[in-house]
Amino acid sequence: MDYAALAGLLFPNVTDTPQSLEEKYPPRQLPEGAVVTRMAPSPTGFVHLGNLVMGLTAERMAHQSNGILFLRVEDTDAKREVPGAVEVLIETLKHYGISFDEGATIDGDNGSYGPYRQRQRAGIYHVYAKQLVEQGMAYPCFCTEEELSAMRAQQEANKETTGYYGKYALWRDRALEDIQAQLAEGNSWVLRFRSTGSVENQFKFDDLVKGKLTITENDVDHVLLKSDGIPTYHFAHAVDDHLMRTTHVVRGDEWLPTLPFHIQLFKALGFKLPKYVHIGPLMKMDGTSKRKLSKRKDPELALTFYKAAGFPVEAVYEYIMTVLNSNFEDWRRANPTAPSDDFTFSPKKLNPAGSLFDYAKLTDVSKNEIAKMDSAKVYTLLTEWAGEYDPEFAELLCRNPDYAKSILAIGRGGKKPRKDLATWKEAKSYMGFFYDEYLTAPEFDEKFNKTVIYSVLDKFLDCFDISDDSGVWFEKVKTITAELGFTTDMKVYKADPNAFPGTVADVSTFIRQAVTGKTNSPDLYTVMQLLGYDRTVSRIKAVMATLK
Ligand code: GLU
Repeated sequence: MDYAALAGLLFPNVTDTPQSLEEKYPPRQLPEGAVVTRMAPSPTGFVHLGNLVMGLTAERMAHQSNGILFLRVEDTDAKREVPGAVEVLIETLKHYGISFDEGATIDGDNGSYGPYRQRQRAGIYHVYAKQLVEQGMAYPCFCTEEELSAMRAQQEANKETTGYYGKYALWRDRALEDIQAQLAEGNSWVLRFRSTGSVENQFKFDDLVKGKLTITENDVDHVLLKSDGIPTYHFAHAVDDHLMRTTHVVRGDEWLPTLPFHIQLFKALGFKLPKYVHIGPLMKMDGTSKRKLSKRKDPELALTFYKAAGFPVEAVYEYIMTVLNSNFEDWRRANPTAPSDDFTFSPKKLNPAGSLFDYAKLTDVSKNEIAKMDSAKVYTLLTEWAGEYDPEFAELLCRNPDYAKSILAIGRGGKKPRKDLATWKEAKSYMGFFYDEYLTAPEFDEKFNKTVIYSVLDKFLDCFDISDDSGVWFEKVKTITAELGFTTDMKVYKADPNAFPGTVADVSTFIRQAVTGKTNSPDLYTVMQLLGYDRTVSRIKAVMATLK
């Protein structure tokens, strides 16, 4: 076979050479050990937690080593592409603190290793495709869909491995004349790799997450270019990651089965193999068993979910770090206020089998993160969130920022800050009662007589003085307790509950409910101080009117 003639026939318009591309995209001048890595998502419009997990891994590895993180858009599958998806992706990742040094941006490309959108790289792939054909390592295949399905059916019937390999690789050794005849008829073709591998052979491979792997050679003549001349993922991966000088490929472990082919392809193309960081899937507990998070069943897979629920970015970030690196939590305990970038991230600490996503844990982490913030920050983030998801609440918060900040300051700071909020969404039910618009009517425990509750409130109003300190205030509550035959001694009460109508806790609850509408609230004394005398009294009076 005259491979040069075949290459000329298939790629008549290719004039560039691999040499010229090597010169155009020279090795990067970076310090020793700098990691060059990328995110290479397909623009499907759905940004999921997995993107963030991989993005953070890549980001940490690049920036921790003074390397480069770039964004490449893998848009070879035009059918799956959603308009605006690249923008959504870039914005979402930015929201979570992932910024790219180079690559596709909303306004086009940034960097000298582009284009960074694969559809714009067709000419580049063809240069290498042509080279492979010239070297006898790739060939055109004119099989129709029908032929391929018939082949598959036969392989299945024979209980053989399915695929285009060995004797099934029908176009592997066809004469140049046959190929010319097909081309003359205008029949469409794909370009296939001529595999020299054998499934009898195995070799060792080291993945930075999975560790030592034993890999079986690939014997399938996989497709490199589809009939429209657009490359498959495999071919584009090899060409792009080589020319963009990627040192580490961070990607999902669904690519492990085709890794043997990728290794083969890098070798055939004369490219140095990058290091691989294959990340396991995100899983969750479903009853007693683990399963992969699914787009269909689990809304929490979508990153938009966390934004809408109002998890602060810091919380999601901290949580993902605890999931990714088992030693992050210990480090955090030892360095409670250090910026998380000070932590030394290692891909080796990732769980090779995949990570367990635990919503309850995220909630805990988030409570801690919010508890660490000062009230001004909480106010800013909360109003930002509400502005997008609950404009009416946002408006109330903005009407009197100082009032809102004082509410948010309750229990904040000090050694043991309160951990009331896990998300901004919860803020309304936590603090809404401070706004008359959101105050709800109390539902008193039916075991208490309305007149008793009335008397408690009445007595409270009689002695309520807004200038009392909290000690005096509580002494007054205790006095009311005793006057109405309730007890302040919990031990005594427990010993004989029937001896009293209730305790000081019940008395406080009546007052709390009258003022806040709820049985739970931040410190009641502070609540009253913030509401002020008039609003406290008018709320209590309004409730008393319903108890008559
Ligand atoms: N476009 C591929 C994906 O979204 C990229 C995998 C890779 O990073 O190489 O799965």
